[in-house]
Amino acid sequence: MRNSTKNAYTGLVYEIAVPTPLRRVFDYLPISPEEKLKPGSRVLVPFGKRCVVGFVISNKPCSSLHFSKLKNIVKNLDKTPILSHKLLKLLLWSARYYQHPIGEVLNAAIPKKIRNPNSLRPIYQSWKVSPQLAAKNLTLIRHAPKQKALFKLLKRQNGLTKKEITSAGFDINLIKELKKKRLIDEYDVIPPPPKTFAPLPEKNSKSLDLNEQQQIAFDAITRVKRKFTCFLLDGVTGSGKTEVYMQAMQQKLCKGQQCLILVPEIGLTPQTLAVLRERFECPVASIHSGLTDKERLTAWNDAKDGAAGILIGTRSSIFTPFANLGIIVIDEEHDNSFKQQEGFKYSARDVAIMRAREEKIPIILGSATPSLESLQNTIAKKFVHLCLDHRAGKAIASTKTIIDTTNQNLDNGFSEQLLYKIEQHLASKKQVLVFINRRGFAPTLTCQQCGWVAECENCVSQMTMHIKPPSIRCHHCGVITDLPLECANCHSSKLEPLGIGTQKLEYFLKSRFQSTPVFRVDRDSTRSKFFFQSMLDKINTGESCLLLGTQMIAKGHHFPNITLVAVVNADMGLFSPDFRGQEQMAQTITQVSGRAGRASQPGEVVIQSRHASHTILHNLVNRSYNDFAKILLQERHIADMPPFSQLALIKAQGKRLDTALKFLEKVAILSDEVNVQFDRQVNSIGPIPAPIEKRAGTFRSQLILKTKKKSTLQQFVLILVSKMDTLRVPPSVRWSIDIDPIELM
Ligand code: ADP
Ligand code: ZN
Ligand code: ZN
Repeated sequence: MRNSTKNAYTGLVYEIAVPTPLRRVFDYLPISPEEKLKPGSRVLVPFGKRCVVGFVISNKPCSSLHFSKLKNIVKNLDKTPILSHKLLKLLLWSARYYQHPIGEVLNAAIPKKIRNPNSLRPIYQSWKVSPQLAAKNLTLIRHAPKQKALFKLLKRQNGLTKKEITSAGFDINLIKELKKKRLIDEYDVIPPPPKTFAPLPEKNSKSLDLNEQQQIAFDAITRVKRKFTCFLLDGVTGSGKTEVYMQAMQQKLCKGQQCLILVPEIGLTPQTLAVLRERFECPVASIHSGLTDKERLTAWNDAKDGAAGILIGTRSSIFTPFANLGIIVIDEEHDNSFKQQEGFKYSARDVAIMRAREEKIPIILGSATPSLESLQNTIAKKFVHLCLDHRAGKAIASTKTIIDTTNQNLDNGFSEQLLYKIEQHLASKKQVLVFINRRGFAPTLTCQQCGWVAECENCVSQMTMHIKPPSIRCHHCGVITDLPLECANCHSSKLEPLGIGTQKLEYFLKSRFQSTPVFRVDRDSTRSKFFFQSMLDKINTGESCLLLGTQMIAKGHHFPNITLVAVVNADMGLFSPDFRGQEQMAQTITQVSGRAGRASQPGEVVIQSRHASHTILHNLVNRSYNDFAKILLQERHIADMPPFSQLALIKAQGKRLDTALKFLEKVAILSDEVNVQFDRQVNSIGPIPAPIEKRAGTFRSQLILKTKKKSTLQQFVLILVSKMDTLRVPPSVRWSIDIDPIELM
């Protein structure tokens, strides 16, 4: 059916998303007139010179392209679509909301193995006895008893996989021998999809009796039937949020519905995974960055086919298909790692809320320190606010004090009072946690003679000095160089480390408290999973020790014997240039403080500051996090910052700062033009260089867009981006867009 007009084609056309950075889908002709394709299926399509795996998005009765320009789909890879209608809709929404190419959104959302033209379930190599040849060649293994035994087993079982062979106690190399002698054949096995998990009973004998507040929260959550509701479970550390999640999940699992739990970091997954496996008698799958492609594919499939009752995972698991999803839980919803900062810059929390809305199911956002966005949503009655304001079990809240360090001579950052307190707690055989926000030995290495500072060649930033191994490192681009022996400027050998990092404190604490073990927990010391685990095991014996660490230590762990938490210096967060700096400081300090007195012993929190009279610090110490958050919300309101306004960042990176800035200047002009249609409701600020203007050899600059309403920003950005696509971008410049940025960096 060719159209009479020259350009357009009339007839069935499929819109296909292909892996490309272009913000659009592509028109293709059907494989054949009979073969109907469903949205959400994978297809093989010619693209440029290659053949790629694409996803069917939709179909339509015509294309704006001429017939001669249209190519046919080569092959349909799935009998049934692998993405449900709802999930496809969510992916398309994400691409539109975050202004990211749909092809790249699919790349980020879907396991690598599925983006190849493979079958969905992993294929296993297997071997069985080859009937024609075996009889003739059998004499070849007459004197090889092991080969003979394996041969017999293969014959009896009519074929085995590698795993089955090794678990029967055979060396897999025997297979090679048997193959060489042409006694066996190799073939592929696609395991059948596993059965859907069996619904659990309504009552779980391992459930704890809920306290009054937990019961109120549980009742509110379980009252919701097949309807979207977003709950903010706002409970202090140790208040038993996990118990509420698990009992709400039980109510879904007993109806055969699946549960999805998102956690911020890989480090937290094994612990929570163990707790879930201990509690629930159903398969629990997990997805995180530490998996092999095959493991990831299996977990993905188990969720999709309904074999797993529970999926626990990090950020990208929000895009996993489910056979029958009943509830979503986001643990530590305030955590920044839910926001992807590179490439497809999405917030897994916000996508999760959208998903729950689509699926018509409840979602629980849990935190001891909720984000200001979520708190504001409870005030605006968009979320239901559920509070757990005291600790569950026997633990009682800890006391907080500030030590004013103005005019004090500090010993490696410690005041005399603090050292005395640490001594006391250690003397009574307790554990002490020392929190400092910097890893490495010292944040600066400087020359005493001329004031030279070791800087990174790729970034505008100082190098951090490390002792283990001796080096200087850039924490922005990861560059590591040998520790310089002399100043690069005046060649003096008098180099001096300035400031304090975890490694320096480790030395100091070890020499000061010689009979006490000191454990350092930061990104450097936990790189080896095994080493980290053995450290956790030692800490978990409860024996008196000093724990020293960065935020990493504040997340998720439950150390019952910690009675003192010391924040060495709270001042960095007080004067952070970023608009979320104070919120994050409050969250970190509250989270670290939550590590004190987790069991029956009372805990104590001590915060050192040179700005002890600063109202922010006082409010944080003397009031609850929530009261403090209300003050911050008022400040955001006055400053007209999120959640009271909506932000987008247009970022440009380049080999030179001026070309990146010049490009953004053109964008700013476009933005002004678009703004006319919007009655000037959108403010653009900049372009300005990013606070760390050079990073890993690239200069970074940004243009900030700000407006009142989400919908305005959405429409505005949509038009602006389509206009930007017509701009000539200098070859050295790359631009991207960040909707709802978590920092203006
Ligand atoms: P959160 O997730 O809020 O930090 P957890 O769920 O880890 O808190 O609970 C902290 C401790 O309190 C755990 O040891 C848990 O077993 C215990 N706990 C929770 N709920 C109850 C309850 N209803 N009765 C007794 N102990 C409880
Ligand atoms: Zn660097
Ligand atoms: Zn010098």
